[in-house]
Amino acid sequence: MKDPAAGVVCSFLPPAAVVHVAPLLAAYELHVRIARPRRTKLGDHRPPAVGRTAHRISINSNLNPYAFLTTLLHEVAHAATWERHRPRRRVRPHGPEWKREFEAILEPVVGAGVLPDEVAAALARSMRNPAAATCSDRGLALALARYDEPPAGRVRVEDLVEGTFFRIESGQAFRADRQVRTRRKCFECGTGREYRVHGLVFVEPLGEEPAVVATTARPRRRKPSKRRRRAGFGAWFR
Ligand SMILES: [Zn+2]
Repeated sequence: MKDPAAGVVCSFLPPAAVVHVAPLLAAYELHVRIARPRRTKLGDHRPPAVGRTAHRISINSNLNPYAFLTTLLHEVAHAATWERHRPRRRVRPHGPEWKREFEAILEPVVGAGVLPDEVAAALARSMRNPAAATCSDRGLALALARYDEPPAGRVRVEDLVEGTFFRIESGQAFRADRQVRTRRKCFECGTGREYRVHGLVFVEPLGEEPAVVATTARPRRRKPSKRRRRAGFGAWFR
């Protein structure tokens, strides 16, 4: 990557990592596009178009520096795999060839000591068995989510004082109870039903108990599904 856009890309990276990533970017012909946030993916790679030589990589603009770095290296590993194996045969997108490239690309960055310990540890685990996408690797997604900036008016549910009322993205309101390991025990306003919300989820704190329309319906006998009780779990995979 030898164009002025390299400076823009580097501005999204953790500053201490730039010196380790810049040579890697220079080694390949890459067009990196900073993309509007997409819910379905953090980034992607497309090989050079017919008659062209540059790989096309896009990365969501709303990623924190460590998530941006991880996604960039994941996509550069696709470019490296394509360059090395294209002449011989078709390779699977996240097959052993890609894993070898990803490991070779990650190792010097992880070993440089410029990443927070938990991110470096999650990346080291990821190197041994990388998932097809960063957000499929739960340990890595959690380590990276720690560095997300809170949207305006939101706080992490783990930071709420016990007894605080709050709302999640779906509109459901809760009262925060105690933290149980990584999750916050919460009670839904109106139904009193217990949920476990992951501590890293951003929520909107409410000053007082929200008015909830009283329901005359009998409580359902069926136990809510595990997924339902884990309200807000998906919120960090925006
Ligand atoms: Zn991939």
